[in-house]
Amino acid sequence: MTNLFSSPAWPTVPVKGESAEYPVHRIFCVGRNYAAHAAEMGVEVDREAPFYFTKSALTTQATDTEIPYPPGTENFHYEMELVIAIGAPVFKADTAEAAKAIYGYACGLDMTRRDLQLAARAKQRPWDLGKDVEQSAVFAPITKAADFEALGPQKIHLEVNGETKQEATLNDLIWKVDEIVSHLSGFYHLQPGDVIMTGTPAGVGAVVAGDVITGGVDGLDPIKLTIGAAE
Ligand code: MN
Repeated sequence: MTNLFSSPAWPTVPVKGESAEYPVHRIFCVGRNYAAHAAEMGVEVDREAPFYFTKSALTTQATDTEIPYPPGTENFHYEMELVIAIGAPVFKADTAEAAKAIYGYACGLDMTRRDLQLAARAKQRPWDLGKDVEQSAVFAPITKAADFEALGPQKIHLEVNGETKQEATLNDLIWKVDEIVSHLSGFYHLQPGDVIMTGTPAGVGAVVAGDVITGGVDGLDPIKLTIGAAE
């Protein structure tokens, strides 16, 4: 059998200490996982359960690159996030089992057309135009879980043109990484290649063409993204 047209390969993310790369199959994103960010968005955190949206794997973008300012927005926002990379099949798992399925961590950017996300939210419509933006899931190289300290006091931070915009610690995560993987595994057969963006701290804001975003999580490779002109 042949296909009618060629399909793109799965995008990949480098792994520290490995020559092989990590192929990204699905991107899950947690909404409102830092109380201060939920407050700045004018909403309350749902303490009952985390909620999710997704981005296409094809939105994966390497760090240290430039992306064009995307079409259809006048309010393109950065969101710095801790990213979980799943390394083993996990389904309906408790938190202990879920923790074992975590292959590694990276920092990532969930770039967002905020005006379209908020317009959709106001009309109780899906967030796809705001969130599933081409080239908007930016990942730094993955550090294996065994090479990362226990999650807690590490600083998560983001700067625009060198000026600090976001600063928090992983202790501020409302839903911890094992809780997120456990909960999400109740809805999906999670597999290697599934990554989870765990939400952003307070301080989100807009960028314009020419801006340089930097940031990271203590102990993980840093991230950098340049915003180019609109196409
Ligand atoms: Mn986000």
